[in-house]
Amino acid sequence: MADREFGFETLALHAGQIPDRETGARAAPIYQTTSFVFDSADHAASLFNLQTFGNVYTRLSNPTTAMFEERMAALEGGRAAVATASGQAAEMVALLNICQAGDHIVSSSKLYGGTHTMFAVSFPKLGIESTLVDPDDPENFRRAIRPNTKAIFSETLGNPAINMVDLEAVGAIAREAGVPFVVDNTAASPYLCRPLRHGADVVVHSATKFIGGHGTTMGGVVVESGKFPWDNGKFPSMTQPSAGYHGVRFYETFGDFGFTMKARMEVLRVFGPSLAPFNAWLLLQGLETLPVRMERHCANALGVARFLGAHPKVAWVNYPGLADNRYHALTARYMPKGAGALLSFGIRGGYDAGVRFIEGLQFVSHLANIGDAKSLVIHPASTTHRQLSEADQVKAGVPPDMVRLSIGLETLDDILWDLDQALARA
Ligand SMILES: *Cc1c(COP(=O)(O)O)cnc(C)c1O
Repeated sequence: MADREFGFETLALHAGQIPDRETGARAAPIYQTTSFVFDSADHAASLFNLQTFGNVYTRLSNPTTAMFEERMAALEGGRAAVATASGQAAEMVALLNICQAGDHIVSSSKLYGGTHTMFAVSFPKLGIESTLVDPDDPENFRRAIRPNTKAIFSETLGNPAINMVDLEAVGAIAREAGVPFVVDNTAASPYLCRPLRHGADVVVHSATKFIGGHGTTMGGVVVESGKFPWDNGKFPSMTQPSAGYHGVRFYETFGDFGFTMKARMEVLRVFGPSLAPFNAWLLLQGLETLPVRMERHCANALGVARFLGAHPKVAWVNYPGLADNRYHALTARYMPKGAGALLSFGIRGGYDAGVRFIEGLQFVSHLANIGDAKSLVIHPASTTHRQLSEADQVKAGVPPDMVRLSIGLETLDDILWDLDQALARA
């Protein structure tokens, strides 16, 4: 079967897993074990020398987690992947793998809140500086590059701004600068967009969202393309003997999966944000239905966007699937199968109307998450961004009247009914 290029749906069900040889189990077994018995002293030595691939300790690798990693690599069209305990951990592992004190990252300013804090507050404490740029003009990334820049970072579809970035333009700038383009593909999912085909070198996910898909499981993953030339002189830690791991030269030894091996052996192994095997299993379950869920997420979100666009209590709607949206053309190019589940709108009556709307909803749940099978809502001005002044809220792209929705898989008419009756109370 090796020379057949399987479709996304087939890979979502089968990549990385075959029926268990010992038991015949069709579903993925959960290897709920911390450690693995060595065959012999020689076997143990060769595992530690990375001469033999195998499992030692679940902080480094685990067979259930490996199935999730291989499936994610296949779905993103990448070479290899390493799973992490959360999306935040995926970003940390990917970036600490190539950045150290004295280095610099250029990132889109339209970021998930936790990522913004990582770049603006936490990485600077480690000596890693960032410049955040408006991603609407790709040239802004080029202008911010310095000799010590080690990565360009962006989200595919920004959360919560719901902006689309011109991946190929930014990827070309990264290539010219000799640094990897790292893309957070959480809001799109690999079903809607595969950034590695559009100039990205590394993809990270919060698997907590659409990949798990049911609001049950924290997880993350880092996928590498296998194509970045880590020996271009800018990444000595990829080419020189590793002080953290037996003098291994990761790029020379492992080539097109050297980045992943280094992330696993130098970052995951040392800092420890590993995915639990049970969570890997839940994320595998999520991946099996990712294609059908994303189709319905997109169809329902488009239905909601059209409904809100025509509603007298709604001032504006931001959904890139609408033809008049400023990101429509870019989204159609990079996400041809659908514009995703996220949309935001402005409610007439501002902050107070936003609060009354949220309180009036019946089954659309008020919480801080996206990508659940259930429809979710948040009013950033009264929750995630309430510490900011009104002026700073506007600057951050979350004005007081903005409501963000993550549209789920319920019957579309029921979602519209719930939104309509809550708008009436607002
Ligand atoms: C949620 C999210 C994260 C963080 O992921 P966790 O799994 O919550 O750690 C990072 N990026 C984006 C775009 C997200 O939506």
